[in-house]
Amino acid sequence: MTTRLHIKDQVGEPLERWLEAHGQKAFRLKQIEQWLYQHWATDFAEMRNLSTELRSELENDFTCNSVTQTECLKGAGDTRKYLLTLEDGETIETVLIRSARRETVCVSTQVGCPVQCAFCASGRGGLVRNLTSAEIVDQVFHVCRDIGRKITNVVVMGIGEPLLNLTNLIKALEQLCDSRYFGLGARRVTISTSGIVPGIQKLADMRQQWKLALSLHATRDELRAQFIPRRYRYSLEQVLDACADYREATGRMVTLEYALIAGRNDSRRDATELAEISRRLDAKINLIALNPISDALARPTDDDVKRFCRQLEDHNGRVTVRLSRGEDIQGACGQLRHHRKRKEADVRCSSEP
Ligand code: SF4
Repeated sequence: MTTRLHIKDQVGEPLERWLEAHGQKAFRLKQIEQWLYQHWATDFAEMRNLSTELRSELENDFTCNSVTQTECLKGAGDTRKYLLTLEDGETIETVLIRSARRETVCVSTQVGCPVQCAFCASGRGGLVRNLTSAEIVDQVFHVCRDIGRKITNVVVMGIGEPLLNLTNLIKALEQLCDSRYFGLGARRVTISTSGIVPGIQKLADMRQQWKLALSLHATRDELRAQFIPRRYRYSLEQVLDACADYREATGRMVTLEYALIAGRNDSRRDATELAEISRRLDAKINLIALNPISDALARPTDDDVKRFCRQLEDHNGRVTVRLSRGEDIQGACGQLRHHRKRKEADVRCSSEP
């Protein structure tokens, strides 16, 4: 059996050559691309202005959708968390976050995550595999189809460390941002990283208008070491220098994501140092109370969040307190997938002789 290629991995020249080899006129390429990127087609049968013969030849050689919905949990403000199944049976999470002016899709870039931060469900079990660019794009299109319109923003903050799957991510974002394809403004894309220095440098060299968010969570190397295992941990100085280069190269403000963890990174000293980093990078701080995945790390009280916020402001830190959206729907990144896997394992164990 031959494995069919995903057509979104073949758009542009490869597809043009395929059409030529199948005796098709050049304008068919544009028609197919319109179906894929503007109508979010998941089946060649939907492409009604193509001949039946061409549709069936496409069907023979390609697939045009790589995700199917296994579960969709709806939370406050019509936040939606999707558990999507890939063609090989692996699962990922995609989230729709709604506000008055925006419909933002948070996409995953890997199945599992090799970084394995202490506070994150996505890293439990490590990396299974990278997502293809088509699998990243298809998450966005799945949400567009679900809500019946084009979304306004994409944040790359789901399962996985985006900068450890950079080639596929860049290809996906180029397709999403290209006006010939999906046409999302580059400034409407945010990429979040735990601090993968070579990846930040590569993005800086590209000088795209994508926004960078650094998941900081600790202002000193010894504290960071408690949250991020050694393998993918760069020194804080290297990370901050790379972020400064990104700011310089792109002119775009970097955001510092800071998950407040009770008794671990919420002292006055932490606030002072965090404000200092934000001033140094001219960066905005997004403060969020930890959404705990175990008893080892706890969520601070609302009063502690307010106190930390005041301390940041006293030191001229620019801070926004983010609501933990979707807490009612297993909001922490990777939790839904993790629970589902555990349930499946329990079922397997109880059915074993
Ligand atoms: S926080 Fe990000 S980098 Fe760390 S384990 Fe979770 S997904 Fe991976």
